[in-house]
Amino acid sequence: MDVVVPTSIADFLQEARTLGVERLDAQMLLERTLARPRTWLLAHDEQPLPAAALETLRALLTRRAAGEPVAYILGEKEFHGLLLNVDTRVLVPRPETELLVDWALELLAGDERAGKERPGVVDLGTGSGAIALAVKHRHPAADVLATDVSEGALSVACANARRLGLDVAFAHGAWWQAAGQRRFQLALSNPPYIAQADAHLAALVHEPALALTPGGDGLASLREIVAGAAAHLAPGAWLLLEHGFDQAEAVRNLLRAHGFGGVESRHDLAGHLRCSGAHKP
Ligand code: GLN
Repeated sequence: MDVVVPTSIADFLQEARTLGVERLDAQMLLERTLARPRTWLLAHDEQPLPAAALETLRALLTRRAAGEPVAYILGEKEFHGLLLNVDTRVLVPRPETELLVDWALELLAGDERAGKERPGVVDLGTGSGAIALAVKHRHPAADVLATDVSEGALSVACANARRLGLDVAFAHGAWWQAAGQRRFQLALSNPPYIAQADAHLAALVHEPALALTPGGDGLASLREIVAGAAAHLAPGAWLLLEHGFDQAEAVRNLLRAHGFGGVESRHDLAGHLRCSGAHKP
């Protein structure tokens, strides 16, 4: 028999607030635990929570208050219209990375108009598979390869591809080493780029360090990707990179130094220059 205790949904949201947990996060925990949509929660603010649900909810709230991303607690994260399964083997996909996907889709649409069919696309360091799967989902004609140095990440990405029915190939290895001798029309990457001394890293302890920082000034992986790109890209192919809010100039300089043309950067929704790209002459 359910013991009804006098703690309502509104009371729980207040508890979350007291612990510094965002309302939206607390609502997501409620949606999951009660198996009810947000609209129901909003209409049942005063509904008392069953004791068992409240116990579960408080345990989840404690995890969230300790900094664990809500995506890990729920085991899923929405990215570019896809629901991806995520766990601690992969970085939680960020909304700013959707910008990189949008840019890639624009380029692929342009290639399609130019009569180029089945373009080869590579996503280096795919993590959960977010970029590769979103590109394949929105541009099914693309022949997409996703790579990662982490076996754990590859198994998460591979499972996401299977579950979503998206035909993406996977290869294990660091950056271009996983790409073999193939030449691509488009290369994409959201590599680790946070500088070792960045205070922001402390808030990200739940996510794999490998996906967040290469140490030092944060540019090592970006340097390696740019340095190896020309050998793996077809003439006219584009390389699009996500980077830190203060790294756009450094990445543009790297691209120019390696002979790339049409170098440009794009802003994320927070107004930071978050992605830079260029094409091989
Ligand atoms: N954008 C992430 C963050 O700053 C970092 C991801 C990355 O290093 N690629 O939280």
